[in-house]
Amino acid sequence: MKKTIKAVDLKGKRAFVRVDFNVPLDDNGQVSDDTRIRATLPTIEYLITHGARLILASHLGRPKGQPQPGMSLKPVGERLASLLRRPVSVASDCTGDGVRQQAEALAEGDVLLLENLRFHASEEANDEAFCRELAALGELYVNDAFGTAHRAHASTTGITKFLQPAVAGLLLEAELAALHRLLHGHESPFVAILGGVKVSGKIGVIDHLLEKVDTFLIGGAMAYTFLKTKAVSVGNSLVEDDRLDVAAVTLKHAEERKVDLRLPLDHLAGEKVAPDAKTAVTEGPAIPEGFMGLDIGPTTTAAYKEVIAGAKTILWNGPMGVFEIEAFAAGTRAIAEAVAASGAVSVIGGGDTVAAVHAAGLADRIGHICTGGGASLKFLEGEELPGVAALNDREG
Ligand code: ADP
Ligand code: MG
Repeated sequence: MKKTIKAVDLKGKRAFVRVDFNVPLDDNGQVSDDTRIRATLPTIEYLITHGARLILASHLGRPKGQPQPGMSLKPVGERLASLLRRPVSVASDCTGDGVRQQAEALAEGDVLLLENLRFHASEEANDEAFCRELAALGELYVNDAFGTAHRAHASTTGITKFLQPAVAGLLLEAELAALHRLLHGHESPFVAILGGVKVSGKIGVIDHLLEKVDTFLIGGAMAYTFLKTKAVSVGNSLVEDDRLDVAAVTLKHAEERKVDLRLPLDHLAGEKVAPDAKTAVTEGPAIPEGFMGLDIGPTTTAAYKEVIAGAKTILWNGPMGVFEIEAFAAGTRAIAEAVAASGAVSVIGGGDTVAAVHAAGLADRIGHICTGGGASLKFLEGEELPGVAALNDREG
């Protein structure tokens, strides 16, 4: 367990806080979804209440090491100010003499938001001189950016060589606690629902969780890679052909350990990924030529719902179909409703899965919604997150 902001002296101290304000902006450059900003408010408010002087740092988008006006954190600063109901100044950069003077001039409870860290290539390169410059702004380091904890960048790892103490914020603490509870101390039956587009990122999770999970429910495009390894015809469905071997090995491991790993029994198939596609429900797991699987079918949905209703612990990552198109959204929505109704301890991760749960209006009824898809998958693969490893251990 890691030390948190609750265990350090904050009064009058400049706290360099790595947050995840990588939020979507609309066509007018305004924040279109402020979930990630809201998620870190408890940490920011705690620091303000305890007399810290706050220097917040984040990346936004992929500016590739160059300043990009469309990826400035200014609109984020405005949204944060209205959520906090107090002024937030946005610096013109994240390093340099001007920024340093602004940081030093902060009074207790003042908030300074640095400009996009990724306007400097040194951020992702974890360049030492850049780490020192960031470190010089603060007197202690706080990481509350769960969404980037799986990256070893200057602001998530390198900075801690030059800035101590280095502790977790309240959001990072809550995310880690929810995931930790899945792996250690969950109640059975434990059901893992995996879907979405890529087998590659998720197969490691299946392997790591084989000892813990009672039933895997597989949907989404990743199901077709598995079905193909079992010589079921998949038509034009999305398949990762370079993962067929790995998928076959995973199926074999599941069988050896007598883990119940379910693949779709039927599908909603379409001729193309479009709202006006000609569609048909298949009779069994096979997809006819000229069609692609775009959602789980009604028999699969009913079978999966029954498993979910009996679960005590649920992990869900990845939609069951192309839920962005209404015609292929029913499977994902039914699963979301079943998870919400199950009363199980549930953890949901993955940007698209979380979006689907919000679209279904069910977010309030889900136990824990992860703010970091990639980071939660890495954790569940059993990997240590570098941004977490860099923090001070809790004493005793
Ligand atoms: P998450 O963001 O929740 O981790 P992914 O990014 O792995 O999920 O996958 C989400 C994407 O998978 C969505 O854009 C969805 O349209 C797509 N998808 C799901 N099922 C299928 C399918 N059968 N064929 C093609 N794409 C699919
Ligand atoms: Mg996604």
